[in-house]
Amino acid sequence: MDTTLQGFPFSTSFWFDSEISTSAPLNGDFQADVVIIGGGFAGLSAAYHLRKRDAELRIILIEGKHIGYGASGRNAGFVMNLPPLLWLLETLADAQRVADIRWTTAFIAENVNALGLLLEAEGIDAEWTPTQHMLVARNIIEAATVRWLAARFTAIGLESSYHKGDAAQSLIGYPAQAVLTFPVVLMHPYKLARGLQALLTRHNVQVFERSPVTQITPDDKGVRVRASGGTIRAQKVVLTTNAYLNRSDLNTDIALPEPSTYHTYLLATELLSADLQHRISPAGQPFADPSGSFFYGRLHDNRLLFGGIDRASGNTLADDRHLPSFERLHREMRRRFPFLSDVPMAAAWGGAVQETTTKAPIVCYANDNPNIVLNIGYGGGSGVGMGLLSGRLVAALTFDDANDADALRLINLYERSRFPLLGPIRAVTGVVKHMLSG
Ligand SMILES: Cc1cc2nc3c(=O)[nH]c(=O)nc-3n(C[C@H](O)[C@H](O)[C@H](O)COP(=O)(O)OP(=O)(O)OC[C@H]3O[C@@H](n4cnc5c(N)ncnc54)[C@H](O)[C@@H]3O)c2cc1C
Repeated sequence: MDTTLQGFPFSTSFWFDSEISTSAPLNGDFQADVVIIGGGFAGLSAAYHLRKRDAELRIILIEGKHIGYGASGRNAGFVMNLPPLLWLLETLADAQRVADIRWTTAFIAENVNALGLLLEAEGIDAEWTPTQHMLVARNIIEAATVRWLAARFTAIGLESSYHKGDAAQSLIGYPAQAVLTFPVVLMHPYKLARGLQALLTRHNVQVFERSPVTQITPDDKGVRVRASGGTIRAQKVVLTTNAYLNRSDLNTDIALPEPSTYHTYLLATELLSADLQHRISPAGQPFADPSGSFFYGRLHDNRLLFGGIDRASGNTLADDRHLPSFERLHREMRRRFPFLSDVPMAAAWGGAVQETTTKAPIVCYANDNPNIVLNIGYGGGSGVGMGLLSGRLVAALTFDDANDADALRLINLYERSRFPLLGPIRAVTGVVKHMLSG
């Protein structure tokens, strides 16, 4: 069957329940100490860390659609212990910089581990599964790339294992010269978002869904946030709206940086037999290309989820359903797994992220006003891991907190992040050296 002739079974997200039930929208006027706008991982993490710091704080989280509506409920469910990806291209000659990147990687990993333990302790089922991610090299250039990356991973303290020949081929179902494995957690994004919401509700965070914020007005008492249905007066506001903020629908004097918006896409197959799943990956592990094209996949609940593509976009439905992207994705899937050519697709969906030119998120005060905290710019690749840690940084800014030195250090590293101009040349030279040395 050719799904391009048949049409792709589009949905907002494969992960969503068929019926989405939401908490009540904002209705009336409320007072809070902190109001968080946006119910993705960045907003949920902000609420969690604020509550952890102060059990009495009055926290309201307000979401325009529903919790997990944006990229957080649509992603592939890979939680990476990785810093902003462009940091991997920086020079290893600067010992302080390498130490900073190594420290960031460990800080993110610590938070990911802590979150896994929290989910277990709280009985939250988010299908949280630590495993090994495979970067699969299909030719000599990619084999040299993974060797170059292995050295980088070692430098930043990320454990990885290099497999070649038969050992590599035994892990994945398409021709592989080498495979680099490193730790990753797989999870169910929507269950994670809803699970965190339930936890927050148990800890008296007030959540309003279906309440798009239309106006934010800072004044000398703090900030006034207006949404359809009512107004919240708060001391502080945290903006975690990422790519899903429609700037034209928001009336505010807050100077909002506008990082570029990109779309990325996923397909889910219909149910696959155990034999087909084994042919995709005998190891049953997630996989990705170690190259710029960056297609990736994972098995989930007897299906293959296959994703990729990074295209400049808006956050519109037309972008979500961009047919040429799905056609290309489907072609790439069949190229790797020709035996899936006749398998129908169960779902096709996409989502938008914001990315800065350095791939580092923006965590800072807006308008030099300590009552307005921005926590945006979470892109693909390592956005989930960084977003889930981001509340720690938000809490430090909200409490104007000199005590959380780790949070302040990471905020500072994000802020000082610069595009590594020589990075691409460094990468090409490094890969060529590995090719020449066999
Ligand atoms: C298809 C896809 C696959 C991806 N795969 C991965 C992956 O496997 N691993 C990884 O690390 N990263 C991945 N990413 C990136 C990752 O999902 C994002 O970096 C992360 O989820 C961003 O979280 P966020 O909370 O900042 O933003 P979002 O999850 O987009 O949340 C923003 C929220 O703000 C709300 N909002 C916007 N405007 C308003 C308003 N005016 N009033 C109230 N609420 C508002 C939106 O409705 C939305 O719910 C993927 C992204 C996509 C799209």
